[in-house]
Amino acid sequence: MTCSHHPTCPLARLFSGKPSLRVWAERYCDDRFQACARYSAGLRGEVVPGWLLPNGRSLEAPPPEALIRRSA
Ligand code: SF4
Repeated sequence: MTCSHHPTCPLARLFSGKPSLRVWAERYCDDRFQACARYSAGLRGEVVPGWLLPNGRSLEAPPPEALIRRSA
């Protein structure tokens, strides 16, 4: 079952438009949407920030490895 937020979710459009991002849709939108941070925030009535990824991380945030390299 697909996420009920799919028709209005900007990230869902992004995920389905790029084959390299399809894995996000497979991991969350197509079946495990209950685990999606965006879906959960929406259910709580929160404004869902555009930068919030399904795994709860920020779209703009550098990967943890980059932070480790910067501080070394
Ligand atoms: S699972 Fe998350 S990313 Fe996918 S459509 Fe639903 S709210 Fe958007």
